[in-house]
Amino acid sequence: MIKTLFSNACIVFTLLVIGFLPYSRLRTRRVPNTLDQILTGLGAGVVGLVLMLYAFAVPNSGLILDLRHLPVVTCALFLGPWASLVAGLVECIGRIAIFGLNHTSLLAGLNMLCISMVAPLLASIKRKLAIRVLVVNVYALVQISLLVEWLMPLHGHLGWVLLTYWLVSLAAGYGSAWVVTQLFAHFRHHHELEQLSSVDFLTGLNNTRLFDAALNELTAHAIHGAEPLSILAIDIDHFKSVNDTYGHPAGDAVLQQLAVLLRSCKGSRDIVSRNGGEEFTVLMPQCSLIEARDMAEKIRGTVERNPFALPDGRVISITVSLGVACLPESSNDTDTFLQLADDALYLAKKQGRNQVCVAST
Ligand code: GH3
Ligand code: MG
Ligand code: MG
Repeated sequence: MIKTLFSNACIVFTLLVIGFLPYSRLRTRRVPNTLDQILTGLGAGVVGLVLMLYAFAVPNSGLILDLRHLPVVTCALFLGPWASLVAGLVECIGRIAIFGLNHTSLLAGLNMLCISMVAPLLASIKRKLAIRVLVVNVYALVQISLLVEWLMPLHGHLGWVLLTYWLVSLAAGYGSAWVVTQLFAHFRHHHELEQLSSVDFLTGLNNTRLFDAALNELTAHAIHGAEPLSILAIDIDHFKSVNDTYGHPAGDAVLQQLAVLLRSCKGSRDIVSRNGGEEFTVLMPQCSLIEARDMAEKIRGTVERNPFALPDGRVISITVSLGVACLPESSNDTDTFLQLADDALYLAKKQGRNQVCVAST
């Protein structure tokens, strides 16, 4: 019996890992939405059916024991009531479909449906996870045991069978909770690392790595779809003197506020990045050279008029210079596209700063 239940537990652990992998994309959402719950509930229900096929048949009793309650309990603990209910429903229907419509199948099916409805309520109590795991698992086991007792009153070896079943079930219940907790922690860490490697820590904008990826993707898309792609290269004028006069933290505050301002100016498709130091870019898909130049002028004017608040309460003004280039209006060559915007920016600096220059065609 222990061997059978152990293989049941192994099936649960393995399928839990596979089943929860899609949740890596839900890492930032605490409670999955109803559709995700229903889909995962279906999957959990199927896991329950697989467990039934590997059940332990109690000798001379017609009873089968397995860990089919674990997928339901896990849904209740980690996903929500819909997931639990759908898993219970699938197991209920599956129990009757696989083993035929008889008194025992019907009761066993309804029993699981009942567990799937009550478990989410117990799982929502405000206690530590370890306590909630215990409460929900013990509840499920009590209900299963009562049914077993009713169908086949305890006598002789059946007491030992149930005791073994309880011990293995509780161990597997904690094992499942541990697997899911570890998986979610893994997803969270993965997401944090992804953020760290792609987002500029000071401004929250894309960093150079993500900018490069976006540039490659958007240029390929623009060429393939024969659509224009524009870029603005932006550099703060005399930023060194802001640091020298007001200090580095003041410079950081200016960079952060400029990032907010660029975000508020950009169009919904545009991608704003900090490309190092006090240099920023805006990638503008489906945007012509004229439209990009207008946007650059809008940004330049907005920055010039915007009061930048320093940490000590003082307010300063800054200006920016901008270079504009457009694919294919400035050039057809994707390799020199960025360089053209930089050259235009250099020209804007040379011509006196606080101005927009467009890459010559
Ligand atoms: P120009 O008008 O020619 O662009 O002059 P500039 O002073 O803006 O350019 P320069 O390249 O001489 O100086 C850039 C300065 O940006 C120097 C550096 O201290 C500052 N800087 C770069 N990164 C950061 C940062 O993360 N925080 C702060 N506060 N300053 C930074
Ligand atoms: Mg500068
Ligand atoms: Mg610079």
